[in-house]
Amino acid sequence: MTIYFDMDGTLADLYNVDGWLEKLRSFDSQPYEEAEPLCDLSYLARLLNFLQKNGHDIGIISWLSKDATAEYDKAVRISKKRWLAKHLPSVVWDEIHLVKYGTPKHFCCQDNSGILFDDNEDVRRLWDKRGKSFSENDIIEVLKELL
Ligand SMILES: [Mg+2]
Repeated sequence: MTIYFDMDGTLADLYNVDGWLEKLRSFDSQPYEEAEPLCDLSYLARLLNFLQKNGHDIGIISWLSKDATAEYDKAVRISKKRWLAKHLPSVVWDEIHLVKYGTPKHFCCQDNSGILFDDNEDVRRLWDKRGKSFSENDIIEVLKELL
C-alpha cells in the first residue's frame, strides 16, 4: 500500500507565511520554501522510514499554484522539492507528483486505493471513493497504527 501526503496545509504551513497569497499571485515561489513544518518532521521521518522497511511505499501528491505559467510551475516544483529535502532529508520518496492545481489526486498516482493525508475536504471526499483519507491532524496517529 502507498501512503501519500499533500504538502500545503498538510505538511507545510504555507497559509501562515507572511503575504503568501500576494506572493503567489506575483509568481514568487519563496513561500513554498519558507513554510514552517506543521508537525514534528523528524518523528514523521522515522515513522516513514520504518513503514517503508515494512513494505509500504510513500509519496507526495501536491498541487502547483493556482496562478500558473510554465516558468512559475517550474520554480514552484523546485521550491517544493527543496522544502522536502530540507525538512525530510532522510526520506526517499517512492513517488513525487507535483501537478496542476485542481488535478484529481487519484488520476496522478500509482495506488489510488492507498492512504492520502490532505487538509482539503473536497480532495478527501473524492479520494475516499477508492482509497482512505485523513486530515493533517491525524498523520502521526494513523501512521502509528500502521506500524
Ligand atoms: Mg493542501
